[in-house]
Amino acid sequence: MEKTDCPCGFGKNIPETNPICPVCQTDLSILFLINNLSIIYNKRGRTYIDKSNYPEALKNLKISYALDPDNKELKKLIEKTEDQNK
Ligand SMILES: [Zn+2]
Repeated sequence: MEKTDCPCGFGKNIPETNPICPVCQTDLSILFLINNLSIIYNKRGRTYIDKSNYPEALKNLKISYALDPDNKELKKLIEKTEDQNK
């Protein structure tokens, strides 16, 4: 994620390089940090899938999803991994 919208609903496409909302002046750098953290857990989860360690994969993927609940692709991956974990 290189750009984000401000939760105030008015600031749009705010870049990570200058993460201050021009409308409400909120510092949005925390949103970028959360997103980057989600990506880290996502990658970690996929690494566990490659090792067929589904319980650990699910743990990491679910943390990633909690940090990025709009990620529909990740939701599908979690469902698929839950099936493999049965
Ligand atoms: Zn704003």
